[in-house]
Amino acid sequence: MRQAFANELENHIYTRGNNPTVEILRKKIAALEHTEDALVVGSGASAVSASVIANVKAGDHIICVQKPYSWTYKLISKLLPRFGVSFTFVDGRDIGEINKAIQANTTLLYLESPNSLTFEIQDLAACSRLAKEHGIVTVIDNSHASPIFQNPADFGIDIIVHSATKYINGHSDVVAGVVCASKSMIKKIFESELMTLGLTISPHDAAMILRGLRTLPLRVRQSDETAAVLAEYLYHHPKVVKVYFPLHPSFDQFELASRQMRGCGGLLTFQLRTESKDAVMRFVSKIKRFLMAVSWGGYESLMIPSIAFHDIPGLPDSPIHWTIVRLYIGLESADYLKEDLNAALEEL
Ligand SMILES: *Cc1c(COP(=O)(O)O)cnc(C)c1O
Repeated sequence: MRQAFANELENHIYTRGNNPTVEILRKKIAALEHTEDALVVGSGASAVSASVIANVKAGDHIICVQKPYSWTYKLISKLLPRFGVSFTFVDGRDIGEINKAIQANTTLLYLESPNSLTFEIQDLAACSRLAKEHGIVTVIDNSHASPIFQNPADFGIDIIVHSATKYINGHSDVVAGVVCASKSMIKKIFESELMTLGLTISPHDAAMILRGLRTLPLRVRQSDETAAVLAEYLYHHPKVVKVYFPLHPSFDQFELASRQMRGCGGLLTFQLRTESKDAVMRFVSKIKRFLMAVSWGGYESLMIPSIAFHDIPGLPDSPIHWTIVRLYIGLESADYLKEDLNAALEEL
């Protein structure tokens, strides 16, 4: 027992800390992300908060890319300022903007590449080089690309987080997150944030994720392949203004995406060509083979039209234009999904 207490992370004392099933999953996740160690926690949001909180104290400054995941935005702009941590949001597409935002007290650079709506990406090698020059820790949310298509550790990024709720579990039946980093960083996060904030995952959920991992490469590649077909189809459709898909040649940062990602994944955003909200509503109502729902990364295709966030009494309108629609492409065939989109686009 004395030995176990001296190193709780590598022993099994109490399941809020380590657990034999969770430990198997930690090893597999670390191997997938090319890091020395990993932690598995109760949500993607807790993976993000643990990684950020572990690397700031009162008086420190965070640089974060614009439009990160909504709860990451809340953590940095609302929760941490209560504890004396300041922040700057920058356009991460431009390394010069990141460089300009560095202050003497900057300790953390937070990246999300690509983000999960319009897919802006950052030059990971350049970001890590710049951060290292200034002694700044780098964190990236790699949920979108998954470990199958992008390994930020290979570009020198310090901490890689995922919402395992998405691709890593892949069956839309577990909420979880992972943190991947060096042994010393993982030990630090384990001993402070994970244990004190109680960010634990249940061993049963960890077992579900171990099942999900067995098909991770198959699921992610299938989802990516079908999404690429649909991106090309939508790109040529007269009722579509623009398609957002990082590995489509029309994407603003296509060249950088091709250099650092081996694939895209199944998220795909496009803009409808119409000036009528009624037409958008008709399009959305006509769609039958995409479930209208949040989240992504499972086996079934989903749709979020941004018109869902406009004209809601008592709420501010979303800054995203109401003609924008995000699709998540699951494991159905491309033709089956294309037929549905085709019929709905007729409504415009
Ligand atoms: C869903 C998501 C998160 C948050 O993960 P949860 O498991 O829902 O807590 C973080 N980042 C991205 C990009 C996501 O899509």
